[in-house]
Amino acid sequence: MNDILPNTTASWLVLESKLTDLMARYGYSQIRLPVVEKTELFQRAVGAATDIVEKEMYTFKDRNGDSLSLRPEGTAGCVRAAIENGLLHNQRQRLWYSGPMFRHERPQKGRYRQFHQLGVEAYGMAGPDIDAELIMLSARLWQELGIKGLELQINSLGSADARARYRGQLLQYWGEHKEQLDEDSLRRMEANPLRILDSKNPAMQDIIAQAPQLIDALDQESREHFAQFRAMLDSVGISYRVNPRLVRGLDYYNATVFEWVTDQLGAQGTVCAGGRYDGLVAQLGGRDTTAIGFAIGLERLLELLQLSANDKQASQLDVCLVMVGEAAQANGIVLAESIRSALPALRLQSLCGGGSFKSQMKRADKSGAHVALILADDEVKTATVGLKFLRDDQAQQRLEQTKVAQRLTEILAGHVNKA
Ligand code: ATP
Ligand code: MG
Repeated sequence: MNDILPNTTASWLVLESKLTDLMARYGYSQIRLPVVEKTELFQRAVGAATDIVEKEMYTFKDRNGDSLSLRPEGTAGCVRAAIENGLLHNQRQRLWYSGPMFRHERPQKGRYRQFHQLGVEAYGMAGPDIDAELIMLSARLWQELGIKGLELQINSLGSADARARYRGQLLQYWGEHKEQLDEDSLRRMEANPLRILDSKNPAMQDIIAQAPQLIDALDQESREHFAQFRAMLDSVGISYRVNPRLVRGLDYYNATVFEWVTDQLGAQGTVCAGGRYDGLVAQLGGRDTTAIGFAIGLERLLELLQLSANDKQASQLDVCLVMVGEAAQANGIVLAESIRSALPALRLQSLCGGGSFKSQMKRADKSGAHVALILADDEVKTATVGLKFLRDDQAQQRLEQTKVAQRLTEILAGHVNKA
């Protein structure tokens, strides 16, 4: 679990504001959900025979003896909330949320025990158009963030019936190759033979590659849905690869599934993953409602942003106010407030706490601000202030305190124009 420190929160804030803006532009509304749910919710939704539920959840008993878990993902809680609050009664809903998720995985690059996801969910729309919209939304996000080189992998898991037929074929296949299965897979074989396809064990990859493919067992309806979905992606020029092994790590998916994958992050290359989960709402006690959604891993996305150098650390300050001596402090604190009232968007930091002129100038230099305002006894007596450019080669100026807001406006406008 990571502390997100002041030198990276600026990147988080920029990313979060871009995400919020994009969601609004596609007509998605934000929902805010608790980080704790009943353990049973995840057992039923994510699936009892998944890595997440079998070995990754932070589960505890609360004071009533109820078993609760820190949420390992957001979809289950979102569906629960939508059912409980009647959001799905003959309604279509486009929802999004973001926040921390918790999984007790082996920590490594790109894999943390508290990580953050942006989740996007759409309810009550059965057609492939919403599937395509979600892909287009995510593609636009990569484009606007300047991220290149993500590969879109898609697959169809078909209907429950098709999967049941396929399950039989797969069971037989695993049965014939039992000696090559690892412990997890042997244990899961009966409960969920599809789950084995999602194994991350390198030793299993050969036998997985030879397994029969679900895409060959698809029902007619899923086949058509998938074909239309692909045609829609083609029509806007989004390229993709059909990956018949893509089954996703959670049990609730059916029909369309997808992942956006990069080769720039090492083993943890999936940045965004999702798919249809048409059966989940009814399974959790709601009226039968079609659904589709995806989640973006924000740590991995930020990592990619840093690699593509699109995460330019913008300066967090415009002005630093240097105050040397007691009189300057008393005057400065008032001057700073009057400047803030006049220029509400200005980012001004007063160097409270005193110190010599030299040490305060050092701090001002380090702060990243464009301009230092300087107050010492002399300036206080004459109601003036010194103005020093910290980034540009320009002579220091002295001006009346009443003119300083106007002068700062001109200087900073010049900076915006240059940028
Ligand atoms: P993976 O195959 O990488 O384990 P998953 O199938 O478990 O992923 P989802 O539950 O679909 O992933 O989560 C969606 C996204 O959330 C992932 O694609 C990834 O970007 C991110 N994510 C998942 N687990 C972690 C983690 N432990 N640390 C950081 N990000 C994660
Ligand atoms: Mg996982």
